[in-house]
Amino acid sequence: MKAPPFAYHDPRSVEELTGLLGTLENVRILAGGQSLMPMLNMRYSMPDHVVDINRIADLDYVRRVEGGLRIGAMTRQRTLERDPLVAQYAPVLVEALHWVGHVQTRSRGTFGGSLCHLDPASEQPCVAALFDATLHVAGARGERDVSIHDWVLGYMTPAIEPDEALVGITLRTWDGPHGYGFEEFARRHGDYAIVAAGALVALDGAGKISRAAISIAGVDVKPIRLTEAETMLTGGPADAGAIAAAAEVARGLECMSDAQISGDYRRRLATTLTRRALDKAVKRARG
Ligand SMILES: Cc1cc2nc3c(=O)[nH]c(=O)nc-3n(C[C@H](O)[C@H](O)[C@H](O)COP(=O)(O)OP(=O)(O)OC[C@H]3O[C@@H](n4cnc5c(N)ncnc54)[C@H](O)[C@@H]3O)c2cc1C
Repeated sequence: MKAPPFAYHDPRSVEELTGLLGTLENVRILAGGQSLMPMLNMRYSMPDHVVDINRIADLDYVRRVEGGLRIGAMTRQRTLERDPLVAQYAPVLVEALHWVGHVQTRSRGTFGGSLCHLDPASEQPCVAALFDATLHVAGARGERDVSIHDWVLGYMTPAIEPDEALVGITLRTWDGPHGYGFEEFARRHGDYAIVAAGALVALDGAGKISRAAISIAGVDVKPIRLTEAETMLTGGPADAGAIAAAAEVARGLECMSDAQISGDYRRRLATTLTRRALDKAVKRARG
């Protein structure tokens, strides 16, 4: 099918964009188009106006900021994969992006688009949750910040008003050396995950775990931080027993079911993938 008719707008600045969003009704923002174009063609989305933000150069950047890494909403997934600052401060994002679609889709798809599309099985919100990301939203009323933990209001529904746009994301990257791991199970490489798990681990001078973060995608409408397991690990040994015990926390998760995949299967995947992601993170933390 072809997309329904709509008026096309291509603002060149964030001011022009927020001006349009403040005046137009029934608008969709076009970023990489990797999810929106199929939704238009299948008539899941029937906007009167499409606002293409590809020509807003100010939305495409990766910058080191105090306490983290700020990424422009229009930064392509492929750009992030090859960015030296991301490699240095958030290598787990690079590892996660290798699971996202294909080179062709990553060359168009954007980090901001993924965080607005909010597929529950997407790797990118999962990494954003791992880093306690802040999302920067702009509209006619000005800018506001939303924590990733408040960003998902429901199934594929971000906490953003129709007259607002996501303009940037700040990942609260970790200071000092740490290990990372991202593991996923999908039916075919390039498909969305059935379940994915990311982990960050820092070790102290005695080899004990000084800090841990675990985030799981595909089990709920939003990425789930396994805070109980993080607390269990912190201050303890970085050995196989501790990792296995922490991963067992995932077995208690309330997981969604659908026609193909049961909640029980998702729970088993979450447990195994958490263990593998933690194992990788500990090995990397040891150097
Ligand atoms: C074959 C294929 C395989 C894929 N596999 C995966 C995968 O394994 N994992 C994965 O995570 N993704 C996957 N994707 C999706 C891909 O990552 C998309 O790029 C992503 O979901 C949406 O990003 P986009 O930039 O293309 O956004 P678009 O498709 O342009 O937009 C998506 C939605 O977000 C809104 N939006 C976009 N940007 C903004 C903004 N700045 N402010 C407000 N709203 C905005 C749009 O209006 C639209 O509703 C796949 C896509 C394809 C085609």
